[in-house]
Amino acid sequence: MSQELATTVASEQPQKEKINLLGFSASRLAEFFEEIGEKRFRATQVIKWIHQEGECDFDAMTNISKELRAKLHDIAEVKLPEVVNCQDSVDGTRKWLIRVDGGSCIEMVYIPERERGTLCVSSQIGCALDCSFCATGKQGFNRDLTAAEIIGQLWIAADSFGQFMPKGKRRVTNVVMMGMGEPLMNFDNVVAAMGIMLEDNAYGLSKRRVTLSTAGVVPQLDKLGDVSDVSLAISLHAPNDELRNQLVPINRKYPLAQFIESAKNYIEKMPDNRRKVTVEYTLMDQVNDRSVHARELVELLKDLPCKINLIPFNSFPGSGYKTVTNTALDRFRDILVAGGYTVMVRTTRGDDIAAACGQLAGEVNDRTKRQARYKKRLNEIESLNIIE
Ligand code: SAH
Repeated sequence: MSQELATTVASEQPQKEKINLLGFSASRLAEFFEEIGEKRFRATQVIKWIHQEGECDFDAMTNISKELRAKLHDIAEVKLPEVVNCQDSVDGTRKWLIRVDGGSCIEMVYIPERERGTLCVSSQIGCALDCSFCATGKQGFNRDLTAAEIIGQLWIAADSFGQFMPKGKRRVTNVVMMGMGEPLMNFDNVVAAMGIMLEDNAYGLSKRRVTLSTAGVVPQLDKLGDVSDVSLAISLHAPNDELRNQLVPINRKYPLAQFIESAKNYIEKMPDNRRKVTVEYTLMDQVNDRSVHARELVELLKDLPCKINLIPFNSFPGSGYKTVTNTALDRFRDILVAGGYTVMVRTTRGDDIAAACGQLAGEVNDRTKRQARYKKRLNEIESLNIIE
């Protein structure tokens, strides 16, 4: 065989797909090293390199022998999703557009506050739940993110803030699973990624500073307490089933009473019994912002240790909803406070870069045809000139 032909044949051999170690937890990584005939403690070294030093090149992992580095090169890689765009808001909020395998893009947001910096991470490409007031839902659904794609978001943010540099300050102090997607619909990958967030040899975040937010996938929430003890936020948005059925369609399957019971069980499993669930309630003008709703909510939550986050609705084209007025917001809050609850009003951040809750839309290769239906409806509305 001529040299030229030999080279062609060699390069045409199908490349064996490499194993991406980015999303491997400490225990999964230890298993991996055992499987390839190496010592388990290599896992600690490698996880520190990746998630504390930000080093993805095996060649730079200097406490590992040359032979092992070469072996890792052959079979494994540390592959990150690709940052397509990064925008900064005037208020310090930063938003990334991140491309994942298959070509779709997800969005991630960083929100700096006085004493903390919160990263809002996506768990799926699009979302299947179709909550009536959420822009992500209108994009339809493509697929679950892998554990590597979920933890890769934290890696990207940490890198962009110089957290991996020697003496780099920790800028991401909190992570909320409140980006695109329903985290409990992607249970295993979300649990694995949150494990790396908490892992001492990786990001070492406290369980109080990692929050999973769910619209109410009750069977999975029941399971979560067995494998995780992160903070919990529940997206309620309505104080009764009739209204919630319209806003959050998964309520038709798992009604409020079941959801609240499941949330209560989750925090009761926690060793520290002072923990509370965060209740999220997005306020929409004339929809769920009346005094009667607030009073119903006071009653509904009376047995659940919780605090309440009120989120003024963030609008997007064709949503069909308007945000709450200041008067209605104050009235709603006052009723909850008088009912004995701790209430926070979540101020809108990153408005100039469409980075607020429910505005994250990314670029989803929709498999559900929902995006097409939404666009059609949008066109109809536009031609009727009733869009504001
Ligand atoms: N699927 C998860 C995470 C989603 S987003 C969940 O439902 O909890 C995080 C929060 O933003 C949820 O409470 C969601 O209901 C809320 N949200 C969605 N769209 C919104 C909008 N347009 N304005 C304000 N909040 C919104």
